[in-house]
Amino acid sequence: MDNLKIYRDSDIDKNIILGKKVAVIGYGSQGYGQSMNLKDSGCDVVLGLRAEGSSYKKAQLENFKIMEVEDALKWADIVQILIPDEVQAKVYKEQIEPNLRDGQYLMFSHGFNVHFGKIVAPKNVNVIMVAPKGPGHTVRSEYQLGKGVPTLVAVYQDFSGDSKEVALSYAWAIGGGRAGVIETNFKEETETDLFGEQAVLCGGCTALIKAGFETLVEAGYSPYMAYFEVLHELKLIVDLINQGGLADMRYSISNTAEYGDLTRGPRVVTAETKVNMKKILSEIQSGEFANEFLNELNSGAPKFNQLRKENEGHLIEKVGKEIRENFAWNSNKIIDRAKN
Ligand code: NAD
Ligand code: MG
Ligand code: MG
Repeated sequence: MDNLKIYRDSDIDKNIILGKKVAVIGYGSQGYGQSMNLKDSGCDVVLGLRAEGSSYKKAQLENFKIMEVEDALKWADIVQILIPDEVQAKVYKEQIEPNLRDGQYLMFSHGFNVHFGKIVAPKNVNVIMVAPKGPGHTVRSEYQLGKGVPTLVAVYQDFSGDSKEVALSYAWAIGGGRAGVIETNFKEETETDLFGEQAVLCGGCTALIKAGFETLVEAGYSPYMAYFEVLHELKLIVDLINQGGLADMRYSISNTAEYGDLTRGPRVVTAETKVNMKKILSEIQSGEFANEFLNELNSGAPKFNQLRKENEGHLIEKVGKEIRENFAWNSNKIIDRAKN
């Protein structure tokens, strides 16, 4: 294992990014979080958006300079591509590639398209990544608190010879250097990111919550009690894990809970689960998942939409909505769908 090298604000030359023109393409979760932070850090930032696109009006609320994607490309030194992964290759071919010039920095927050060969940049540009390890809305809310989200940087292609310094400087501007920045490569970021969200953070976690909720409700317990037990409390437990690892969480819970954790946990996530995780990882590594996802999304997403609908209709969502509307922890929302 290599030693961990962490870059902080004090290791980073912020003047690099302050001296460059930055175009952010897309104003979704990451586009919103990163461009707002860039602006507040004093960067010269323009949004590249479709005039008819869904987020144009939201961006106007924040008084951004907005251009068509092609014009933003011509204006910028750095182009941060924050449109959905499934449309990046098409937008790249049609609107970005024809407008690239020597020495521009093409930037991503996920290595997906570059690593799987869906975007192949010409040799005369730099290809880099600055990827906050958190949702875009949190990139913004942490920055506003004077903090930041741990951030990855990577260099895929270094035409100008200073790609890493430029990536670090951009990471400073979005607040990453306040938390810490580490260097990785496109392959590692892409494959670990996909695995994490599929097996643990999103897929594994939501499947675990739903199975626990259904088990209690099917046994005749109140859905409200089940919601609190398996969904609401999860955050409180994860906060302890996030701060001090599994050990701090176990330090805080009762002996009863800890004994149940150590003896029953391995019956929920079994050796068979790990076999499935390895299969999921190999589908990511081979590109099978990437192709499945792109084919599905680019052919009208019938399966995806069906699954979304089924999940939105789940009892846990109905019960949760009612509970959250009637309890007090829900002020100061990070996500306001009308604005960000
Ligand atoms: P998103 O879906 O939230 O936002 C997409 C934005 O792109 C919107 O403004 C939309 O209007 C715009 N858009 C869609 N199609 C377009 C087109 N054809 N032309 C121009 N604009 C178009 O996207 P996101 O979740 O922020 O993801 C952006 C990138 O960041 C992806 O590479 C993703 O993997 C990466 N990433 C996202 C997160 C996250 O928190 N969501 C975290 C880490 C990395
Ligand atoms: Mg991801
Ligand atoms: Mg308990």
